[in-house]
Amino acid sequence: MRAVIFDLWDTLVEWPVAEAARLRARIAELVPVDEEEFGRRWHEVYRASQTGPLAEAYRALGVPDEHIESHVRARHAFGRQVLRPRVGAAAAVAELRRRGLKTAVISVCSEEVPAAWPETELAGLFDVETFSSECGLMKPEPEIYRRTARALGVETHDCLFVGDGANDELLGAWRVGMTPVLFLPAGNAPLWPEVRGWAGEQVSSIEEVLELC
Ligand SMILES: [Mg+2]
Repeated sequence: MRAVIFDLWDTLVEWPVAEAARLRARIAELVPVDEEEFGRRWHEVYRASQTGPLAEAYRALGVPDEHIESHVRARHAFGRQVLRPRVGAAAAVAELRRRGLKTAVISVCSEEVPAAWPETELAGLFDVETFSSECGLMKPEPEIYRRTARALGVETHDCLFVGDGANDELLGAWRVGMTPVLFLPAGNAPLWPEVRGWAGEQVSSIEEVLELC
């Protein structure tokens, strides 16, 4: 292996379920439709929210114009607040680099993640950061993995890809020739149907990735 590529949410950083639900509920209050219709719209704008400006996604949801800016700001504040690596993760990534491996992140995320990134403990840890909101691509699209490998200067088959499995990201990595590794903390059941019964490589901490390299 020459490189290790990590997923962000629920891999390097825990997804803040309650905080995210709170933001969603505050937005739902502004959209004059029932819960079912709001859920349908939320699902419909998911891709747009992860690959383009949040303001446009909120507008498509039906958030009134006068409220869009404050909700975009709230999401940016959320990013600054929650983007903290798991205990031990930053040291493990630094150790991978000390051993001569390249490191990267590929994240399906909205614009607040790259905006907050430089101020977080994650800044400077990776050779390449690929954010869906900046490149307009999502996992498991092949090109998001390939462009990251190209930016690292390695072949896809030289890469481990470590993630919790959302967005079918593990099979997506495998399809382009990367070695997928399921990240599943001890005691957790797989959250995503795609990874139930996963028979490939698996780690329960970011430190354990060091044993695979
Ligand atoms: Mg994830």
